[in-house]
Amino acid sequence: MRETVTDQKRQILRQYFGYDAFRTGQEELIDSLLAGRDVLGIMPTGAGKSLCYQIPALMMEGITLVISPLISLMKDQVGALNEAGVHAAYLNSSLTPGQYQKALAYAAAGRYKLIYVAPERLVTEDFLRFALHARISMVAVDEAHCVSQWGQDFRPSYLKIPEFIRRLPARPVLGAFTATATAQVRDDVIRLLALNHPKVLTTGFDRPNLYFAVQNPADPYRAAREFLDGHKGDSGIIYCLTRKGVEEVCENLIRDGFLATRYHAGLSDEERRRNQDDFIYDRRRIMVATNAFGMGIDKSDVRFVLHYNMPKNIESYYQEAGRAGRDGEPADCLLFYRPQDVVTNRLFIENNRDNEELDPAAREEVMERDQERLRRMVGYCYTEGCLREYLLAYFGEKTDGPCHNCSGCDAGGEAVDVTEEARAILTAAAYSGGRYGAGVLADTVRGARTEKILRFGMDRCPSYGILAGVAPDRIRRIITGLQGRGCLVVTGDRYALVGPGPKAGAVLNGEERILMKLPQEEVKAKKTKAKKAAGALEGADASLFERLRALRLEIARAEGVPPYFVFSDKTLAHMCIVRPHSKEEMLTVSGVGAYKYEKYGEKFLDCIRRETGAPERRKR
Ligand code: ADP
Ligand code: ZN
Repeated sequence: MRETVTDQKRQILRQYFGYDAFRTGQEELIDSLLAGRDVLGIMPTGAGKSLCYQIPALMMEGITLVISPLISLMKDQVGALNEAGVHAAYLNSSLTPGQYQKALAYAAAGRYKLIYVAPERLVTEDFLRFALHARISMVAVDEAHCVSQWGQDFRPSYLKIPEFIRRLPARPVLGAFTATATAQVRDDVIRLLALNHPKVLTTGFDRPNLYFAVQNPADPYRAAREFLDGHKGDSGIIYCLTRKGVEEVCENLIRDGFLATRYHAGLSDEERRRNQDDFIYDRRRIMVATNAFGMGIDKSDVRFVLHYNMPKNIESYYQEAGRAGRDGEPADCLLFYRPQDVVTNRLFIENNRDNEELDPAAREEVMERDQERLRRMVGYCYTEGCLREYLLAYFGEKTDGPCHNCSGCDAGGEAVDVTEEARAILTAAAYSGGRYGAGVLADTVRGARTEKILRFGMDRCPSYGILAGVAPDRIRRIITGLQGRGCLVVTGDRYALVGPGPKAGAVLNGEERILMKLPQEEVKAKKTKAKKAAGALEGADASLFERLRALRLEIARAEGVPPYFVFSDKTLAHMCIVRPHSKEEMLTVSGVGAYKYEKYGEKFLDCIRRETGAPERRKR
């Protein structure tokens, strides 16, 4: 009996999704759901949560409802499912009343195995009329953390889910899935969704294919350009903290000839949809956006995520950065940090109106928590050790030492004694009384004669010009390092001013020395590590890859679907290595299932045959 279920699962995995093996955690969650036991799956973005309910949905009798917070998410997932040969539909406010009624009628007639629905819809009359008479065997709740007000994206409509389930004639098995859940959020999810003795499974949060880097560039736009030069032809997202930031960066990039587009809450629905589609369909490779963009975008070939500003907490950072490299191929996650970002984030936290329905004490608590999260985020920017270690430790995971795949590890080298330089900077900070920004402090110790320095009288500071020969980058690094050690603190309500912190005294009076690991001089953005997806391919393989990519784009345009719906970068790269010349060989390529083969297999085979000649000449 067990044997056959296992076979069936694998067969579905192969046939519909084209994969050979389950990833960590998937099989356990699938088995549990099939056995009728609720689950809570906590897995990082890109780990493959969707399959955990899609596969049982295909194996169970009846319908699976998938509750999902965002329209774009549903559209994407339903599109991908239909592309793979699964009957699925979504019900949300993007449908006209006519379309909605039609979809409901089809649903009632049993046409769909999976139905994606927005939480607000659940307890509406129309929907209930359908649901009460349908055979709903499973309910999967995506982004389940939205039910908790301690999470970062609380959505009150999620609280309607248990009410809806109680009204169903038979209780379906429940699966809840999320990428971010601290212990508190996890407990909330179980309690508020009323999961019944669920199997709780947390897989590792590590994303080994992502390269993490932090920089503190003097000129962020220039640094961004250099970074983009290392990513020609790649898809990527640039996150800015503010709408204004998005506008500026996007305009500059377009002026400089990049195919960029933008997304933030201040744009019309129409423009947002258009821009998002331009990005997804590879008409515009670079998306410049606020954090309003991304939830539910599962474009799998995003090769980089650049944070132009530091986000408000590590949860957001890891989720946004995690949109890179979902196909498992190498991708870059670079974060720019400036003290001004701390100030902007503090203002956001203080002016946050999301929690207005909370009582004052609870609101105070939430705000304090947010400030603490911000401090941990700042800590990330200051880490001189392994960045991955820091991130995973934040989520309560231990690592076996440094990862050798982040800028912290690459900086390598021994910690050097920078006490004298530190004292010069701290002297300037003390002299300024914390009234100026980091730039003025750096200019002071370097002995610059700028208008500001003269106006502020910093040329009379005892440490003026002491570090005249030292590279500006190094001074910036040391200032950042001093902030990380509590020797300098960011003050100021609107501007990031830097003053002496609690630990400054001990350094100034010689009680403490400062050791820092400084990266080799002049760390430049172009040194980022991740290779392009095809970067591992060379010569003939690389040129075949480009051919296949072009063919994919042609097919995608003709069918009006995003290119990665056809095949992922990873699948194309795999084809270049396997070089299939027959159907059987093609079906061994990861990501090529029977259904996709029927649709596209021959075209890709032809292209490979043309490029690589007859099979007998091929060496295996
Ligand atoms: P999540 O929802 O956890 O962020 P997805 O369900 O969108 O992740 O999956 C991310 C990517 O991984 C998708 O492209 C998906 O097709 C792929 N994937 C999922 N499971 C497997 C598997 N067992 N083998 C190979 N690829 C997989
Ligand atoms: Zn590392």
